[in-house]
Amino acid sequence: MSTDGKASAAISAANDECEVQQSTLAVRAGLECDDHTGCVVPPIHLTSTFAFRGFGEKRAYDYTRSGNPTRDLLANALTELEEGVGGVVTSTGMSAITLVGYLIPAGARIVAPHDCYGGTYRLFNAWNQRGERKVDFVNFNDEAAVREALSRPCALLWIETPSNPLLRITDIEKIAALGRAAGAIVLVDNTFLSPAWQQPLKLGADLVLHSTTKYLNGHSDVVGGAVVARDKALHEQLVWWANCLGVTGAPFDSFLTLRGLRTLHVRLQQHASNSLALAQWLHTQPNVNRVYYPGLPSHPGHDVARRQQRAFGAIVTFDLAGGHDAVRAFVSELKCFSLAESLGGVESLVAHPATMTHAAMDPVARQKAGLVDGLLRLSVGIEALEDLQADLAAGLERAAAVLPQGAAREPKAAAAAAFC
Ligand code: PLP
Repeated sequence: MSTDGKASAAISAANDECEVQQSTLAVRAGLECDDHTGCVVPPIHLTSTFAFRGFGEKRAYDYTRSGNPTRDLLANALTELEEGVGGVVTSTGMSAITLVGYLIPAGARIVAPHDCYGGTYRLFNAWNQRGERKVDFVNFNDEAAVREALSRPCALLWIETPSNPLLRITDIEKIAALGRAAGAIVLVDNTFLSPAWQQPLKLGADLVLHSTTKYLNGHSDVVGGAVVARDKALHEQLVWWANCLGVTGAPFDSFLTLRGLRTLHVRLQQHASNSLALAQWLHTQPNVNRVYYPGLPSHPGHDVARRQQRAFGAIVTFDLAGGHDAVRAFVSELKCFSLAESLGGVESLVAHPATMTHAAMDPVARQKAGLVDGLLRLSVGIEALEDLQADLAAGLERAAAVLPQGAAREPKAAAAAAFC
């Protein structure tokens, strides 16, 4: 079996010649790669070890921690979609983040956004406290602050856009150029958009990282991660460290993620149209203080998002009037939104960042990052829009009922439509 895959190699060649669509690459990744049986869908290689042909005659694979054909199919597919030179598939998004930390020397400095994913924040903070790496958290919407942070030696510039959960947009091209000029490796965590909606390597990043747990797998049944490199040297280091640390992904998880990836583009269309409609509708709701969605013209990152993304994403965050009590009433009987962390699956989820995804952040840092008590993050799924809206409407009514007397507000004007 060739892990490049006959069909996917042919498609890649065709892509160079006649621009095969990214969605075709995703569907056909690794198909017909087994000449022995001719199976269309690649098999799962559930083996920890591979027999040598004979004494001193190693085959392409020897041990699954170091390499596995099923995992390589997924790595190749993600590399093609991100238009990099090579990728590494890891056991979780966090292990992908840990892996990247080993590309820089012990004690070196990382500059990261102050509102990065809570787990990233926790790991970087722990490294900082143990003296393993120095980390400065900076507001990436404040260009002067980024320039100031990069005026001192920086080995790794960490970008996450849109950010979680406020969906702040970082101008990748601009900030990556500053990072590269400062001699840093520039990484973009692209989990919230996937390569279908944003391709950071084309905007100047050296590495792109994913929690494949989210949109790439898309069915909330696997945790996984990946890092794709723009150049060969970085890819080789990633491969070496992934094997050394033992953070590579399992074959079964890789198979499922590759299966999920095939429907990425059609899933995302429905995610995006539901999200835009719900964001516009929430914006008109009287007891919603503010809606954060880059597709709304009122969002400060709207113009940059239009430029560097192909769609506005499927996370909608809003600040519900009434704080904790209103949040409790709102989530108490939702039928179509599960109260759960994570995002990017076909099913809709609602999370309360202050007590869930960002509970690891200390309260002062949380407040500084704008994560107020009424904030709710929706991962909008692909269910029927009218069902999602009805469910949210009922939640807003429950939340209004617990507001102090006279605090409920009048309806607002409709939001202006905005499309990519
Ligand atoms: N990066 C982002 C932006 C995330 O949202 C997450 C998880 O939610 C991670 C990384 C970590 O991924 P995982 O949960 O697969 O370890």
